[in-house]
Amino acid sequence: SGNMAKSKFDYVRNFETDDTCLRNCYIVVRLDGRNFHKFAEQHTFIKPNDNRALGLMTRSARSVMEELEDIVIAYGQSDEFSFVFKRTSTWFKRRASKLMTHVASQFSSSYVFYWKEFFGEQPLLYPPGFDGRVVLYPSNRNLRDYLSWRQADCHINNMYNTVFWTLVQNGGLTTTQAEDRLKGTLAADKNEILFSEFNINYNTESAIHRKGTTLIWEKRDETATKRTKLPNGEETDVAVTRSRRRVHAHHCDIIGEPFWAEHPDILEE
Ligand code: ATP
Ligand code: ATP
Ligand code: MG
Ligand code: MG
Ligand code: MG
Ligand code: MG
Ligand code: MG
Repeated sequence: SGNMAKSKFDYVRNFETDDTCLRNCYIVVRLDGRNFHKFAEQHTFIKPNDNRALGLMTRSARSVMEELEDIVIAYGQSDEFSFVFKRTSTWFKRRASKLMTHVASQFSSSYVFYWKEFFGEQPLLYPPGFDGRVVLYPSNRNLRDYLSWRQADCHINNMYNTVFWTLVQNGGLTTTQAEDRLKGTLAADKNEILFSEFNINYNTESAIHRKGTTLIWEKRDETATKRTKLPNGEETDVAVTRSRRRVHAHHCDIIGEPFWAEHPDILEE
């Protein structure tokens, strides 16, 4: 802060190492819940996908985007969320530790702060934690491949979990039997089990579970009613439309071209 007084101890600052992120690269911060396998069990998450938990993750990610600077897109699934800072960001002089810890702490405190909105009276039993890492991507292709990698991971895990829990919950198998049944199966085999044995079409399962959650800033027209006073002193409601920039959630494919063609502002030259 403003206190410029020097002491003989000041030299210890020189022990700090430089962790400036390379210029011109997208800075990705990925968070992952610490030991959430246990956290999910202790908080009785519904298997395989607890929508309260997903909602809370997304709410916390929204808080990160709204409170911190320069995040252009975020992608989340399971207990993880990735945040992408624009490549020209100079926030905190691009210091990796500052960016990562601000993301992790804003996310963690929001997770606790908004817990009740999603879990109601069910108590939060202990303070959850999230690890963070920073990765730099120098090209749009690399960044898109990173996001594709996370969405592919979501797809593979969700397909496995969907079949696994269907075999257990609707097929009467034990978890060990379900595990054995799925050993060595490919995506096509899993689709087939779901379809022929349980009449489930994987592709019509909920998009939030199959595709994860993508958050972006979008300008949209919003209409609100405002109470105004007329010249004659009478009060009346009028509709006011204005364009507002807000964080919006998508549960769509982000691997292919259409999403990026529809939102050309996310990636820079
Ligand atoms: P930055 O985000 O850069 O850290 P900052 O506003 O947090 O900005 P600091 O240099 O960290 O700046 O200073 C923290 C400030 O918080 C103090 O200057 C003081 O005003 C306030 N503060 C912190 N703890 C207390 C406390 N226990 N009692 C009163 N004020 C406090
Ligand atoms: P680590 O600390 O190494 O990350 P972890 O136990 O968190 O260990 P992950 O690989 O991150 O392991 O897996 C997260 C686990 O959290 C999932 O396997 C699942 O059991 C649980 N989980 C997370 N989100 C949900 C959800 N929305 N619904 C149900 N289970 C969930
Ligand atoms: Mg301080
Ligand atoms: Mg401070
Ligand atoms: Mg992990
Ligand atoms: Mg985890
Ligand atoms: Mg995880």
